[in-house]
Amino acid sequence: MNTFELDKTYIAGTYKRFPIEIVSGKGSLVKDVNGKEYIDMGSGIAVTSFGIADEEWIAAVEQQIHSVQHMSNLYYTAPCARLAEALCLKTGMAKVFFSNSGAEANECAIKAARKWAAENKGPACSTIVTLENSFHGRTLTTLSATGQAHYHELYQPLTPGFASFPAGDLEALKKLCSGGTVAAVLIECVQGEGGVVALDPGFVKELDAFLKEQNILLMVDEVQTGNGRTGSLYAYMQYGIRPDVVSTAKGLAGGLPMGATLLSEKLADIFSYGDHGSTFGGNPVAAAAALSVVSRLTDDFLKDVTRKSELLRGLLKDAPGIEALTGLGLMVGIKTTRPASEVIADCMANGVLCLAAKDKVRLLPALNIPDDLLIKAADVIKTACAK
Ligand SMILES: *Cc1c(COP(=O)(O)O)cnc(C)c1O
Repeated sequence: MNTFELDKTYIAGTYKRFPIEIVSGKGSLVKDVNGKEYIDMGSGIAVTSFGIADEEWIAAVEQQIHSVQHMSNLYYTAPCARLAEALCLKTGMAKVFFSNSGAEANECAIKAARKWAAENKGPACSTIVTLENSFHGRTLTTLSATGQAHYHELYQPLTPGFASFPAGDLEALKKLCSGGTVAAVLIECVQGEGGVVALDPGFVKELDAFLKEQNILLMVDEVQTGNGRTGSLYAYMQYGIRPDVVSTAKGLAGGLPMGATLLSEKLADIFSYGDHGSTFGGNPVAAAAALSVVSRLTDDFLKDVTRKSELLRGLLKDAPGIEALTGLGLMVGIKTTRPASEVIADCMANGVLCLAAKDKVRLLPALNIPDDLLIKAADVIKTACAK
C-alpha cells in the first residue's frame, strides 16, 4: 500500500487531508513525494516559526539530542530552566509550567484559575468565561472552554463550569459575573480557528479594567498568536494589557511539541508539589529548540515580522476577489468572493500551500519567509481569488 492507502486503512479518520504527501523541505519551501515544490504559507499551523529544517534550530536540537534526550521531572535539567528564565524576563511573568501542547497549556491555566479562586474567593467561585467563537483545544475540558457549540455535540456531558459571551459585549460579561462565581476570563486576542478575527483593542482594555476591578483573572490563550506571530512576542503586548496567565504552544519550539503556561506574580505560588505534572513537559530537546526560537525573537526581528506582514497585506489589499483582510501580523485572514476551499485548491495546484479558518483563507507563513517567496505566493493567491 502507498502512504495514502496506509493512512486511510490504519489511521483514525479525524483529519481531512489535502491529497499531497510532503517528504522534505527547507525554509519556506516544501517538496511532495513527486518532487513538486510548494511555498509553505501555513508552517504546520503556525508551528515551524523559522521554517523547515532551519540550520540554527537543527543545531540547537542536535546538540541537546546528543547530550540527553529526556529526563523525568524528578531531576533538574538546564534547557527548561533557562527557557523559563527567558520567558519570564521577556514577559515580566513570574513562573512557567511546561507541557506538550496548546490544550495542555490551557488545561494548566484553567487548573491554576480554579485553585486560585477557590483559595482566594471560595469554592463556589469556579466558572471560567470564554468568548463565543473561541477555540481552546480538543481535550474534554478545553472543548468545554471552546465557545462553539458544534464542537460540543458529540461529547456530552462536558466539564461543567464554563460560560461564554460575544466579544465586544461587556454588559453580557457583567451579567455572567454578577453572581460572584466567575474565577477567570480566557480570551484569544486574535481568534485563529474562529476565522482570524482580531479583538477590538478598546474592548480588550475595558475588559482588562473590569476584571482587575472585580479581582477576576484575565487569561490569554496565545497558543496561535504567540511567539512572534503577530509582530510582538505575544499578541497581548500590542493590546496594552497585563494578563494574570498566558498559555502558549504551537510556534514555541519551532516544530517540536511544547506548551507553556506563564503565571504572573499573583499566581506564582499557586501550585505546590504534586498539584500538577507532565511526563514529557519541559523535555530538554523541546526546551533547547524553544530557547533557540525565543532568543531569536528580538525587537529587530519582530519589527521585520511586522514589515513582512505589511508587505503581504499591501500586495493582497483591494485585489479582485478579495473582500477583506483580517488578523494581525503574519496571522492573515482573507475573506474571498469565491469559496475559500476553491481558492486553496487552486493555490495548491499552483505551488502555494494555504490554510482555511471558517469561511476565510488563512495564511501563517514562517516568520522569516524571504520577501521574494512572499511576493510569489501573493501573486498565486491573487490569481486564485480573482478567478
Ligand atoms: C491550536 C490551538 C489550541 C490547541 O493546541 P493543540 O496543541 O492542538 O492542543 C488552543 N488554542 C488555540 C488558540 C489554538 O490555536
